[in-house]
Amino acid sequence: MATTGPETKTALRQSSASELSIATAGNTLDVADTYSGERIVVVGGGAGGLELVVKLGRKFRRRDDIEVLLIDKNPTHIWKPLLHEVATGSMNSYHDEASYRMLANKHGFRFVLGRVEAVSLEKQTLTLAPVADGSGNEMMPERIVAYDTLAVSVGSHSNDFGITGVRQFSKQLDSREQAELFHADFASALHRVNSKRDSTSVLSVAIVGGGATGVELAADMHNVVSRLREYGFEHFSPDSLRVSIVEAAPGLLPRLPDRIGVSVKRELERIGVEVFVSTRVAEVTDNAVVTSDGESIPADISVWAAGVKAPAWLKASGFPVDGLGRVQVDADLTVKGYEHVFALGDCCYCQTKDGTEVPPRAQAAHQMASVTARNIIAKQKGKSSKAFVYRDFGSLVSLSKFSTIGNLMGNLVRGTVFVEGWVARLVYLSLYRMHQSAVHGPFSTLLIMLGDRIYKATRAQVKLH
Ligand SMILES: Cc1cc2nc3c(=O)[nH]c(=O)nc-3n(C[C@H](O)[C@H](O)[C@H](O)COP(=O)(O)OP(=O)(O)OC[C@H]3O[C@@H](n4cnc5c(N)ncnc54)[C@H](O)[C@@H]3O)c2cc1C
Repeated sequence: MATTGPETKTALRQSSASELSIATAGNTLDVADTYSGERIVVVGGGAGGLELVVKLGRKFRRRDDIEVLLIDKNPTHIWKPLLHEVATGSMNSYHDEASYRMLANKHGFRFVLGRVEAVSLEKQTLTLAPVADGSGNEMMPERIVAYDTLAVSVGSHSNDFGITGVRQFSKQLDSREQAELFHADFASALHRVNSKRDSTSVLSVAIVGGGATGVELAADMHNVVSRLREYGFEHFSPDSLRVSIVEAAPGLLPRLPDRIGVSVKRELERIGVEVFVSTRVAEVTDNAVVTSDGESIPADISVWAAGVKAPAWLKASGFPVDGLGRVQVDADLTVKGYEHVFALGDCCYCQTKDGTEVPPRAQAAHQMASVTARNIIAKQKGKSSKAFVYRDFGSLVSLSKFSTIGNLMGNLVRGTVFVEGWVARLVYLSLYRMHQSAVHGPFSTLLIMLGDRIYKATRAQVKLH
């Protein structure tokens, strides 16, 4: 048991404050080490963490004795389920990003730019790696930040399962930087194929992983390619793109009801995507994905979108974790053995009422953010905390302009309601608007929606640079 009483925490804060001033001697401090009140730190401003810190900031903004702090390795927030659109160019990330500093000012929390690389659960401190600018010049040195209450929501990334060549040759879509790296390669390949002026030239993209990321990316690439002629790519036809999805399970979207996977596969095949199910990948090379049967699937670009695992520093810092490095939590989302430390979203392992795993989805991160906020506030008032109960409202998969397919009600009613078409599209879009509303407030979200309409009507629909 590593939780500490208030006196010990004050002593720790004093010692960590001096560590902070040692670590940053001679440099600009980004984290005020003079603060003597209670500090609640949220690490990771993604789908779950940002909603959490906004709730806490609003709650405690008038309290001089409580400071709410968000730490993120990026200065701006992008909702992760949109990353495949950043990758294809159907969304410009600079238009959709939200500045953490602006949100901090609006909602009453502080923002600290930095990548957490370790946590001392005993000393109740976090270590932030030095921050460098684009030219490699140090902007901020290593810093130590003390906390009284900590919430970790650092997400997950795909799992390469140690397969040869994945790290070297495959792109991933776990962060905005990775999505933009993919976009740079994709856009340059489109130009290259078009400039050959030869109708037989083909761009091959192989996606490993038939979950939401893989299928949404495949459909959106076809959406972008279908518009290329409008943008002067006269020699690029839809047949110039060959997209393959390779999935080890017997069907696509293995975590969702079979009917969704079957419909998505049919729709993808209709638009020209090649789907390989029950197919394991043995190796990735610079121009192919090689299956365990020895088949070579051509890949000018390969994308690894299979499996999930949590960042390795959580385990290295002594958090109790499962086999995928995800933090194990109690029913109220506190980390096992640490009553002032919470974990939420993709980086935590948590079970539903029927004993199955809470899926790594934005919907789960959103629900966990509400319960974590409530429990942090309850603990602060000396009240008891509430257990997290996952409510599956269903899942929707967007196949870009081609279709949206999914189920509604999830496990809320007996049997789920299968939806497709514009109803599904509307609900899918509303998920992002709900996230925006939780972060910006309902009125600002309406203004953002209006702004988006104007932006769409006046700017390029596809980013090709
Ligand atoms: C392409 C794609 C499509 C998806 N589509 C859907 C969908 O349709 N529906 C759905 O429900 N889910 C979807 N998901 C999954 C969904 O995005 C995640 O489940 C959700 O974002 C998890 O939220 P989170 O808060 O746990 O983590 P994230 O949203 O990933 O946020 C993590 C945050 O932590 C920060 N961070 C990470 N490490 C550090 C560190 N060391 N120090 C400081 N900050 C750090 C990151 O910068 C980020 O801001 C999709 C995912 C992808 C990639």
